[in-house]
Amino acid sequence: MHRGVRAPGPRHDRGVNSAPTPSRPAALVLALVAAACAACSSGRAPVDQVAAPVSSARPAAASSVEPPDPAEVGANELGLVPVLMYHRLVERPVSVYDRTPAAFRAELERLAAENYVPVTATEYATGRMDVPAGRHPVVLTFDDGDPTQFALGPDGVPAPGTAVAILLEVAARHPGFRPVASLYVNAAPFGSADGSVVLPWLREHGFEVGNHTLDHTNLAAAGDAGVQEAIARGQREIQRALPDQPVTSLALPFGAVPANAELARRGAADGIAYEHACVLLVGAGPAPSPYSADFDPLAVPRIRSQDATGQEAAFGSSAWLDKLAADPAGRYTSDGVPERISHPAARGGVAAPAFADRVTAY
Ligand SMILES: [Zn+2]
Repeated sequence: MHRGVRAPGPRHDRGVNSAPTPSRPAALVLALVAAACAACSSGRAPVDQVAAPVSSARPAAASSVEPPDPAEVGANELGLVPVLMYHRLVERPVSVYDRTPAAFRAELERLAAENYVPVTATEYATGRMDVPAGRHPVVLTFDDGDPTQFALGPDGVPAPGTAVAILLEVAARHPGFRPVASLYVNAAPFGSADGSVVLPWLREHGFEVGNHTLDHTNLAAAGDAGVQEAIARGQREIQRALPDQPVTSLALPFGAVPANAELARRGAADGIAYEHACVLLVGAGPAPSPYSADFDPLAVPRIRSQDATGQEAAFGSSAWLDKLAADPAGRYTSDGVPERISHPAARGGVAAPAFADRVTAY
């Protein structure tokens, strides 16, 4: 257990980034795609293959299906992506970072009803989002490895009432709503001793396990060596439970950016090297498309899950989902063709140079 050396008080990732941050030029996307692709192949195993009925009445015609017309589906793959941030699920919230299980379920139901499809943070950051035409990616992120997010019952399935269990229940009601999320853990994730049971379950079911440093270190207050030690030791702890699995994203504790921001993305300590496809902030608005010139892997903004009222509710998920729904052309909408990046010319979006040869304006 390493809890004793954490910062005192609540470990919520408060508003260090409480205002949207300007983006740096995105220049690393190609390298990141290459570096992170191994992680993207760890999705869910095909299901129900043996149960699929064999039918001679329906000829296989997939190869002759025309790709969707981007204009007809309102595609904008240079549009905005909500990256939602969760901490604890409790019946009686004590801070703006807490949500009730009912509120969490309602938010997932809203996302499903509004045609969002969850993708992991690394899938988002590397642009490997398999989202059907006309639907929108959303990234669900959980910080701090709280036991209310995930636990396995004695029967080996997610404990009822945990965030993962609720996500699976909502996904079962809404075909196409992928039950995936990115969970950012410290030492002793989800109240376990070492994560040796819970982390493999998550990975085997398509969830991403990301780094939140071993001891929830404020990286803005650590020197270059301290930053790298905190991150590398967090990665080592994850990889003890997930050997040979790359850890490809980091959520900054407290949203605090290191003085040398690049060290959040890439570095080494104790003989352990790390490299992340993206580094997640705490605040406070939708994230740019990973294909956009505005995308900065060192500073991906997130939106705190929140009702429409309360402290800083204008930066919360209810308010932002309302805004995205009110301006559908500004939201990321898939064209349904992974290799093609479609966007409406009238919106004036600018693609990152690395993706320019895949972009089609309509
Ligand atoms: Zn945290």
